[in-house]
Amino acid sequence: MSKDLNWHDYNLETQAIRAGHKRSPENEHSLPIFTTSSYVFDSAEQASLRFTGKQPGNIYSRFTNPTVSAFQERLAIMEQGERCLAFSSGMAAIMAVGMALLKSGDHVVCSRSVFGNTLLTFQNYFGKFGVSTDFVTLTDLDAWEAAIKPNTRFLFLETPSNPLIEIGDIAAIADIAHQHGCLLVVDNVFCTPVLQKPLTLGADLVVHSATKYIDGQGRCVGGAVIGNEELIEKDIYPYLRTGGATLSPFNAWIFLSGLETLALRMKAHCDNAFELAKWLEQQPNVEKVHYPGLISHAQHELAKRQQSHFGGVVSFELRGGQEQAWKLIDSTQMLSITANLGDVKTTITHPATTTHGRLTPEVRAQAGIKDSLVRISVGLENIEDIKNDLQAGLSF
Ligand SMILES: *Cc1c(COP(=O)(O)O)cnc(C)c1O
Repeated sequence: MSKDLNWHDYNLETQAIRAGHKRSPENEHSLPIFTTSSYVFDSAEQASLRFTGKQPGNIYSRFTNPTVSAFQERLAIMEQGERCLAFSSGMAAIMAVGMALLKSGDHVVCSRSVFGNTLLTFQNYFGKFGVSTDFVTLTDLDAWEAAIKPNTRFLFLETPSNPLIEIGDIAAIADIAHQHGCLLVVDNVFCTPVLQKPLTLGADLVVHSATKYIDGQGRCVGGAVIGNEELIEKDIYPYLRTGGATLSPFNAWIFLSGLETLALRMKAHCDNAFELAKWLEQQPNVEKVHYPGLISHAQHELAKRQQSHFGGVVSFELRGGQEQAWKLIDSTQMLSITANLGDVKTTITHPATTTHGRLTPEVRAQAGIKDSLVRISVGLENIEDIKNDLQAGLSF
């Protein structure tokens, strides 16, 4: 059996490799995939104790599975949270936070610059059941505070934002939330616990799409929520058990091995992205580069304070408009034209006509997303090959 070490005493790279694996009596070195929907009890009494929660242990894989539990335990420790629950997707995790914490008549304050489906979840679906949401500018602390009402339950943000890579001040917004008796929920997909640990900065819940950097190789869809025992056990676990947006053991197994190389990959993604951002800034046909590692970035100092590195996503504005942006994208030979991010393969996308294409031109303009904007999720190919692939489209 594996020794019962306290993984909180170890560093993140070690936690990512060793935490969460409770060796079975077979003494396996690699963690197995438990493909079982249910579990057998020793007696009727034990079954009853398990079902009523009086005895810990597996019951049914909608809400208890050893492979999924290992992933949850490992990610909780890496985020320095007490507990983690895994979900079938990042959106299922965000939906779970809302379903568990909100009731009709409640109010949410959300950053305007969140993942498109997050915005639609609050606006259209929770809105349908009598929850109202106000959207504010991520970087405007006064706007966050001014939007809070007596019935505000939580504040929700994503930092760095997509696609303009703006940085929200987690500690300052957590303070504002707590002064008004609200919670702060942070989507930590872009940074992962390797670059930023929102719970240590005052956030109450962290949500993840494991689909992105945690998998890292574009194979599976999954998500997670991390927080203290009270919020996770009392509010979110009963929703998972009833709602059933469960992560499959196979996907949990993929994500567990993804976590093992996450620290190394994030460092390499950041190094490549920083190099690309500096190179793009020197291109005569590039008007502006959005990357928090650059001195020209408006929240460069905050990013330095809040993150251990600047992240793997870069966006930039070209001279010209949509036509030039599309030409650049179409001129690449190697880069993948897809809106996905966090993959070892570099991806390139035109936000104004894809991820943000459903917004009206006015709303897009207000959000600062220009027709000439191109977003790159920088992968782990050799940086010279990435630059070479972009060079032709930048020379016009
Ligand atoms: C992809 C993504 C999500 C949603 O995750 P899925 O796993 O695709 O459901 C949420 N937030 C951010 C920042 C994302 O990039």
